[in-house]
Amino acid sequence: MGILGDLYQAAVLEHSRRPRNRYRPDRYDLAYPGVNPGCGDEITLYLALDDGRVATVAFEGEGCAISQASASLMTEAVKGRTAREALALAEDFKAMVRGEEPAERLGEARVLRGVSRLHARVKCATLPWVTLEHALAELDAADGGAAPDTG
Ligand code: ZN
Repeated sequence: MGILGDLYQAAVLEHSRRPRNRYRPDRYDLAYPGVNPGCGDEITLYLALDDGRVATVAFEGEGCAISQASASLMTEAVKGRTAREALALAEDFKAMVRGEEPAERLGEARVLRGVSRLHARVKCATLPWVTLEHALAELDAADGGAAPDTG
């Protein structure tokens, strides 16, 4: 079971069994839903930014071990980062599960790199990260981030 043995490393199992930051915060700027219909994975991502940094990141959800472990690892990876850094990490993660060499700064999230060999599970792994991208875009828009250029 080479691929599975590699994929289901202890860290992945640990994060799926006891996810980090899996709760609904008392206060947050945005709750954003994400769904991967192919597998039935669902998450709700809670985000609060403070001075442009990810001050609160948490999630609730149900789904396969990979989606839940990935959500846990994502929250740990982006906490305290600027929105721009968090988006860059999301790009790194998506590149990794497409088979590229994992970026060092992904840290522990690199334990999911074996997903690149399980094409059916790529969307499970990327769900939390894609949801993060959407949520940050929405927060940015709400903040007037894309201010019109009045020249
Ligand atoms: Zn899944």
